[in-house]
Amino acid sequence: MLFPAMRVPLLDLNEQYHALAGAIRAELDQVFATQYFILGPKLGEFEEAIAGFLRSPHAIGVSSGTDALLATFMALEIGPGDAVVTSSFSFFATAGCIARVGAKPIFIDIDPATYNLSSAGLRSYIDNHCRKSEGRLLAHTGEMIRAIMPVHLFGLSCDMDEIGAVARDHGLLVIEDAAQAIGAEYPSSAGVAKIGTMGDAGCFSFYPSKNLGAAGDAGLVVCRSEQLATRLRACRNHGMGPRYHHSFIGGNFRLDEIQAAILKAKLPHLEGWATARRAAADFYREEFTRRGLTKQITLPAEPFRQSALPNHHVYYVYAIRVPRRDALREHLARREVETAVYYPLGLHEQECFASLRCKDRDLPETERAAREILALPIYPEISREAQVYVVSSIAEFFAR
Ligand SMILES: *Cc1c(COP(=O)(O)O)cnc(C)c1O
Repeated sequence: MLFPAMRVPLLDLNEQYHALAGAIRAELDQVFATQYFILGPKLGEFEEAIAGFLRSPHAIGVSSGTDALLATFMALEIGPGDAVVTSSFSFFATAGCIARVGAKPIFIDIDPATYNLSSAGLRSYIDNHCRKSEGRLLAHTGEMIRAIMPVHLFGLSCDMDEIGAVARDHGLLVIEDAAQAIGAEYPSSAGVAKIGTMGDAGCFSFYPSKNLGAAGDAGLVVCRSEQLATRLRACRNHGMGPRYHHSFIGGNFRLDEIQAAILKAKLPHLEGWATARRAAADFYREEFTRRGLTKQITLPAEPFRQSALPNHHVYYVYAIRVPRRDALREHLARREVETAVYYPLGLHEQECFASLRCKDRDLPETERAAREILALPIYPEISREAQVYVVSSIAEFFAR
């Protein structure tokens, strides 16, 4: 071996926790002192803080990112007979929640450079496969299209101006799956906007590995409409209001006080972590370029870098594209570099959706990305030494 072995995990949360342990414990002590565990003061404090951070009028804490999506569909009464158009390349929850409320997920192929929903593909699907009937937009399978759900994959915003224009043209809702990109910004024609706040609702996840992670499951919905916010608050608590009176069916989608306290302690550090993730991404780019590897592998696209937005990307995932992906992955595993494949299958290829006939249109870019994509270690505290080791290990693979 040309260089000493080093173990590089995909993600390491230890350093972050040790730096914040005092602040987190102080917040937790307050929760235990009050013995108030559900819908108490910490939730309110966290909601106010994160609404300020996201510059959103309403923030509703919920039990997970999945439940954020589910509660949003329930609150908007999207269900049987409806369809939601989304990306074919995302975490399962994106499509799982559409199907769980009885609606049909319609998958659009991705832009091969960004891995995000292709806005050209979206337009082309609507223009060539849908029809209008009594002012409604009907999917190729007959359901009424109610919403577009862009997913800001890996920490990068979708092309929201284009998606917003399509939605306006056809009277559709926009529900953003913002689980992977909290804090990311988009240079909208209306000014700089934080992702999650450009549509009718934005859904976030605080799964521990996400850029802002709880110590368990947690999520959030943000919205501009007061009416939707009120409905979401009721929805997360069984559609209740007033007490023990239920005008519609919700669920138990509450964010508990322990998680809210931890998130409140971590939130002030999110911006700094995003900066550190971007610095790590810049360093990968320099190293891959310096070692002449940019022909063999494709680095992440940064379409909004020129816009001088600091948070043009928040690098939840550092994904490279490489044709011999599986062989490289095995090589890196032997070098003790942990990698991941997000995602090995398009959503349209999932067995559980076979009966929905989701595979009735070609989604070639999704299927190619599923074969070629590889996530490398990235987290705010990753050392330059570890990154040099990752890049050297990749260089070694191509030199053989
Ligand atoms: C993580 C994630 C979710 C679900 O969030 P959970 O908190 O794990 O339920 C939904 N969509 C995307 C794109 C995600 O990455």
